[in-house]
Amino acid sequence: MRVLEFSGEIGSHEGCGCGFKHDKSLKEVVFAPLREALDHLGQLDLHPPYAVFYDDVTYRIAGRTVQKVLGARGVRVASPTFREAEEKAQMLGAVKTVIAVGGGTVIDVAKYAAYLSGADFVSIPTAPSHDGIVSPIASLFAEGRRVSIMTRAPATALIDVSLLSSAPHELITSGFGDILAKTVSIKDWQLGRDEASEAYCKSAESFALRAINVVIDALKGGHDFTERVELLATALINSGVAMMIVRSSRPASGSEHLISHYLDMKLDRRLRHGIQCGIAALVMAILHEKWNPNWWEDEAYRSDGLREYLSKAGVPLRLDEAGISGELMAEAISEAWRIRPDRYTILHKHRPSREEAFELLRESGLI
Ligand SMILES: [Zn+2]
Ligand SMILES: [Zn+2]
Repeated sequence: MRVLEFSGEIGSHEGCGCGFKHDKSLKEVVFAPLREALDHLGQLDLHPPYAVFYDDVTYRIAGRTVQKVLGARGVRVASPTFREAEEKAQMLGAVKTVIAVGGGTVIDVAKYAAYLSGADFVSIPTAPSHDGIVSPIASLFAEGRRVSIMTRAPATALIDVSLLSSAPHELITSGFGDILAKTVSIKDWQLGRDEASEAYCKSAESFALRAINVVIDALKGGHDFTERVELLATALINSGVAMMIVRSSRPASGSEHLISHYLDMKLDRRLRHGIQCGIAALVMAILHEKWNPNWWEDEAYRSDGLREYLSKAGVPLRLDEAGISGELMAEAISEAWRIRPDRYTILHKHRPSREEAFELLRESGLI
């Protein structure tokens, strides 16, 4: 068993001087085979009665085991909506600890239901596909639209690497893409700091940077598959901690996430979140290189390095391969800033015309 602790490293907000409160809800993350990790819950002050959330798939993967070992009440999640989470929250009664076994949908419904009911929350991811595993943000649907709201980060996450390693490959690729995209989100946040007087937190930055470096290390070679997945999980957690510290997605979501959100609204067949973000990050890296003198100097973080690592992670780097039309991607590049006009990014500093967007796509090699 390996335990990652954070509160010491996060430091105080007075020391940081950033103006954010430095949320420290996530106390530690346990890396261990599932049954062993479950035995550890009591030591973390996470007590019964337990409720375990799952869907049909994650019930078979691990939900059933968790329910049996803990004698927990089972809650089946059917849809990723606020209404679903509200209904489940009402049923929780005296439940003290809500445990999510899942991918994104289950984690987000359980996270919000736990928040509403006041129960403690534990995250058990079944795939390393995105950094919502430990973040305080729940992203759910309301009247057909996806909305992100601030809740509370889990008290702990239990990471069983053998479980994560058996996830479908495209989910693992998605996790790598979501983290590599932080090269852009951090620089977008710095633009906000330098050009729009936004608050900036060095402590959150250091966790986001560590996430990128861990993933680059994992992709460089010299690790077997399981080690790579373990490093990826560590990176996703570090990115979630970055968001937790400032209670905002800002450190982990910039122009590349806006483009991904735009694609979510327009694509009939969406790709995995982190794959869309990875592709978009490559284009945004090139836009930064043209218009942002504060862009990275380090080769590994620049567009050529990014292309290399995205490719190693299995992210498709041709739009036709990915199933996105050049037209739609160009539209996303020139229109996505409208999704969040108030969150300053490179797309707000320099809004590319449709022609420029096509030029960027050619330069990136995507078309
Ligand atoms: Zn993301
Ligand atoms: Zn700070």
